[in-house]
Amino acid sequence: MPVTTATLLNWLRHAAALIHEQRDRLNDLDAAIGDADHGANLDRGFAAVVEALPAGPETDAGSLLKAVGVRLIATVGGASGPLYGTAFRRAGMQLEGAQTLVGQDVLTALQAFLDGITAIGKAERGDKTMVDALAPAVTTLAQALGAEVALDEALRRAADAADAGALATVPMVARRGRAAYLGERSVGHQDPGATSAALIIRALADAG
Ligand SMILES: [Mg+2]
Repeated sequence: MPVTTATLLNWLRHAAALIHEQRDRLNDLDAAIGDADHGANLDRGFAAVVEALPAGPETDAGSLLKAVGVRLIATVGGASGPLYGTAFRRAGMQLEGAQTLVGQDVLTALQAFLDGITAIGKAERGDKTMVDALAPAVTTLAQALGAEVALDEALRRAADAADAGALATVPMVARRGRAAYLGERSVGHQDPGATSAALIIRALADAG
């Protein structure tokens, strides 16, 4: 499966739909260790992204993802707007002028997405953040592509790794963001950012 701009448009629409569906769950997860608005913030932002999408795939992948990032920064409140906004902008910067992406392009973009998150959030794996879903997804995608697994299957494995990574945040002590103020009391709750990050990767795997 080559990834085209049309695939990316599917991805963004599907991500918005998943986030809308999971809005209350994301709010509930955030209520346990944050301020209960993660689902509402992302739902508003991704709805604004979808509203501004071009009708057809006439744009290039880089311009598309950079515009998504700008839109998310403008519309998502809290910490997650700048985090995801920067992630999409950095991914887009790797895809300037690209219309059709091969596996290595997708990997480079996803790595840049993760690097955008870590540049803004300063989190490492194990800090109970988005990084705990995204880093295993990038590692798994790299391993699968390195083993010459087809891109669509490689993305499914990456999405499974992101889901497992989000689930693995449950026993962690939060060390970044608002949840870090809770210290040990953050244990036993799945991180909302890792959960939304896993939804975004799942939407990518389902987009082809
Ligand atoms: Mg919040």
